[in-house]
Amino acid sequence: MTGLEEARETILSSVSPLGAEVVAVPDVVGRVLASDQFSPWDLPMWDNSAMDGYAVRAADCQERSVLPVRGFLPAGKPAVDALEPGQADRILTGAPLPAGADAVVPFELTEAVPDGVRLLVRPAVGDHVRKRGGDLRAGQAVLTEGRVLGPAEVAVLAATGRSTVPVVRRPRVAVLSTGDELLVPGEPLRDGRIHDSNGPALAAAALRTGVVPTVLPIARDHPDDLRRSLETGLRADVLVTSAGVSAGDRDLVREVLGDLGAKEAFWQVDIQPGRPMAFATNDTCRVFALPGNPVAALLTFEVFVRPALRRMLGHRRPVEPLLRARLEEDVRPRANRVTLRRVRLERTADGLVATSAGRQATGFVTTLARADGIAFIPRGEDVLTAGTRVDVQPLRAEADFTGEMA
Ligand code: AMP
Ligand code: MG
Repeated sequence: MTGLEEARETILSSVSPLGAEVVAVPDVVGRVLASDQFSPWDLPMWDNSAMDGYAVRAADCQERSVLPVRGFLPAGKPAVDALEPGQADRILTGAPLPAGADAVVPFELTEAVPDGVRLLVRPAVGDHVRKRGGDLRAGQAVLTEGRVLGPAEVAVLAATGRSTVPVVRRPRVAVLSTGDELLVPGEPLRDGRIHDSNGPALAAAALRTGVVPTVLPIARDHPDDLRRSLETGLRADVLVTSAGVSAGDRDLVREVLGDLGAKEAFWQVDIQPGRPMAFATNDTCRVFALPGNPVAALLTFEVFVRPALRRMLGHRRPVEPLLRARLEEDVRPRANRVTLRRVRLERTADGLVATSAGRQATGFVTTLARADGIAFIPRGEDVLTAGTRVDVQPLRAEADFTGEMA
């Protein structure tokens, strides 16, 4: 059996960031920048006013100077002529400073008088002026490759005139549920069948990771049907299947994948739940054959598939940092397998506390829905007593922890 770390290493070493595609600037949120971006010009492009007020030549001004007002400069209208000594222009925030002017006196530090404006302060050179290039210089790298783009990066790109930007393309991900017992949610339940929850759940997990998956029609536990579906799935960059991967009579996924030329890198990881899981590859596709059990399917996605997708998406840290949390109750580890314990998390003055999210039986999806994270309980003989600190992989943002609501 393969250890969790070893399995993840095998997976991560078989994937790398995909190539670039050009995407419209507002749509790049959450994507990873594919190349360094440089500013084509100084930002701001010209000296401009940081306040609504009067543009002046500081050398001409004393406290209580009265200056004639020559003109009015709103934003977006550069002054045509230079400001002559002793003049002022009424100017609004963001308007280019007229040539000759070197300071702005805000309205609130002036008084209107019949023949112009009276200054109530003596301005110094540069007061309330945003200098050309103060934010960025032409040719300067504004964002470097690997940067995860958020609203602030979008602001910088747009401010430097970009409408599109190269980002790492998203992997094409196919999700395939397999099993004779499965019905599409919405179909009426009948004789011993169940609704496919893995397909929608794994698709949702892919979406949460930042990819848009294709959900294939359910495949039956029959070699021909599976072959057709797996063949389609293998055309994607990543194929995520669920079920049919244990050692039962109808567990055909591995065999058919092998027939289709996918090479199995490992089968069975020493984790609980999630042990029967296979990873296989061909030249173009990475195949995660996840267990059928809905809890195991989703947990193995989070632990193995999510980091692989993150690496393909260009993230520098495919495996996200773990949290440390204190166990609220005693936990008995397994002797020979890492336990993926579903826990609720709560922030206390003494750090995070991890409480069981409910019955840890592998069939209980509601326990998974209550879980805020996966606590990794290392294999061992001795009970981990309450208070022991363990690593936890969060399943949602802290603001969304289920806490007392559960
Ligand atoms: P298997 O690995 O095919 O033996 O499936 C293990 C368990 O997971 C069985 O109880 C299946 O009915 C259940 N299961 C398999 N696929 C799904 C699915 N897509 N949605 C919900 N339950 C499933
Ligand atoms: Mg089955």
